[in-house]
Amino acid sequence: MTVESRRLRKSKIVSPPKTIINDEDQALVKDENFITTKHEEYKSQIVWRNVFTMSLLHILGTYGWIAALQYGKWQSFFWLYFIGHIGGLGVQCGAHRLWTHRAYKAHWTFRVLLMIMHTIALQDDLYHWVRDHRIHHKYSETDADPHNSRRGFFFAHVGWLMVRKHPLVKVKGAQQDLSDLWNDPVVRFQRRFYIPLVLLFWGCMPVLVMVYGWNESWWIAIFGNFFRYVVSLHQAWFVNSSAHLSGHQFYDRSLQPRENYFVTYLAMGEGYHNYHHAFPWDYSASEHGWKDCFNLGTAFIDAGGALGLVWDRKVVDRKIIESRIERTGDRSIIPSSMSPKNRKPLNPILEYVYGILVTSWMLWGSLLLRAIFYKGDYNSSIVVAQM
Ligand SMILES: [Zn+2]
Ligand SMILES: [Zn+2]
Repeated sequence: MTVESRRLRKSKIVSPPKTIINDEDQALVKDENFITTKHEEYKSQIVWRNVFTMSLLHILGTYGWIAALQYGKWQSFFWLYFIGHIGGLGVQCGAHRLWTHRAYKAHWTFRVLLMIMHTIALQDDLYHWVRDHRIHHKYSETDADPHNSRRGFFFAHVGWLMVRKHPLVKVKGAQQDLSDLWNDPVVRFQRRFYIPLVLLFWGCMPVLVMVYGWNESWWIAIFGNFFRYVVSLHQAWFVNSSAHLSGHQFYDRSLQPRENYFVTYLAMGEGYHNYHHAFPWDYSASEHGWKDCFNLGTAFIDAGGALGLVWDRKVVDRKIIESRIERTGDRSIIPSSMSPKNRKPLNPILEYVYGILVTSWMLWGSLLLRAIFYKGDYNSSIVVAQM
């Protein structure tokens, strides 16, 4: 290996990735007219390669679901549910609350665990995930917000991944100071080895566990993995779409993000979104911890705290929350059951019953469907496997 190529290899590790802004984008964002008026008329430019990839992913996932319903082992459904939510926790507790918002500090072992869990979810590497989420908060509901909900439900949910980024998203993203992120060797390691890590943790590991764990067929294991991936993507995307468009604005009526219970239950506690945009540094992303409300992300971080691997968990002082509600919120719209004064002893139990039911829809829904439609088929496949 020459000195030059060694230097090049090294530079990939030591220098953060750069966003290349072309002249056309530069000219657009420097144009006063574009900023003040023309951006309202900005026409999305479809990236057909992304449309094709996204469509193919959904076809493979749907095929995997139907195949697993007919011939999959019951253990595979539990595993796909489990691994999908492990990835979800990696995004929620790692990319989101730790690396984007710096809402707590964690030992390197916990950060490595979160990085692996985040890789299982395959939602781009931490560096790019965090950059996009920081500008989402800083420029919410503007053209510089990557999934600007003012462009409609579909755009905020998945459409933003199928069109060319708005020039302001690129420019503002490139202007972000992400040095704190790049100073973390765990983030640099994931960025440097992202493709092999994805192949290992997103692809091989979930499939091999099914094949060698309970003798699942390769076919079902591979396509079933696509199914869990598509489901977990949608569960995360609902935070950008539903939790920005429906629900109530208890803490700040000027903020578009909402408290959305459907998303809270579906995304393991990420739907307290009006609160989260009002107080993004709260490690719980909610006024309530995991004991009172369904919030598996907070429970996971607190488990790390109990093991001594997590510290400096930031919370917002009760007085600050109350004064914010007085100034900008609307007490009249919150369901009385959510008010701390009206909480009943049964509420936390009900929260977890609702939460587990909604977040595990893929598990019980699949088992129910195959019991109704494919009883004969999967019974015979079990018999064949036992022979
Ligand atoms: Zn948001
Ligand atoms: Zn956030």
